[in-house]
Amino acid sequence: MVTATFRFYEELNDFLPAERRRLAFTCVCARAATCKHMIEALGVPHTEVELVLVNGESVGFERLLADGDRVAVYPKFETLDISPLLKVREQPLRVLRFVADAHLGALAHLLRMAGFDTLYDNQFRDEQIAALAAAEGRIVLTRDRELLKRRIISHGCYVHALKPAQQLRELFERLDLARSVLPFSLCLHCNAPLHSVDKAQIVEQLPPAVREHYQHFLTCEHCHRLFWEGSHWRSMQALLEPLLNEA
Ligand SMILES: [Zn+2]
Repeated sequence: MVTATFRFYEELNDFLPAERRRLAFTCVCARAATCKHMIEALGVPHTEVELVLVNGESVGFERLLADGDRVAVYPKFETLDISPLLKVREQPLRVLRFVADAHLGALAHLLRMAGFDTLYDNQFRDEQIAALAAAEGRIVLTRDRELLKRRIISHGCYVHALKPAQQLRELFERLDLARSVLPFSLCLHCNAPLHSVDKAQIVEQLPPAVREHYQHFLTCEHCHRLFWEGSHWRSMQALLEPLLNEA
């Protein structure tokens, strides 16, 4: 029988029952259990984990647990610089792309507004989300920890906040998104690139008040919707500005 001691750090504790949070606890492991197996059996999706130390040494997810092991589990993107120790994932993602689950439509819109390629469809099933993430190197965004346990998902974020603006803030802080923002470069409706368009070409399509007050227009190459710096645009800018200023 293998008995190991576990200690989870920072926000990983949110996945544990209250009596196991922020302290070392001992538990019996399944036969031939790996670190990944036990971490998930304890309720923490592997996609949330950046670093595992066993007896003080950085190990991979597939490390088999032995009797008496002391396992320390750290979340992704801790402020503490753990990069020299990283071992669980060989290749970090270089381009930030997302796929959001069916409950995060508003967050998906906000991410597109900030210029982050984010797939979202409220018809997506869990297996489609997992397949898209694996095939296209996308980070899964969800509040469903079972989804993040799927084996083919290598990068995922469990979104803790409930309100879209706070969810956006959470991702900005956690993934350091401010550096990569490209506001109003993607269509909010279909995630396709926006291009500027001459007013003369589209003036016929504009409501009179818009025709009068605005000079600069963007259009989506996919759905051909038009965007201009109206009140919707300004309220989104107001949401983004503090996130950029803090960074
Ligand atoms: Zn579009």
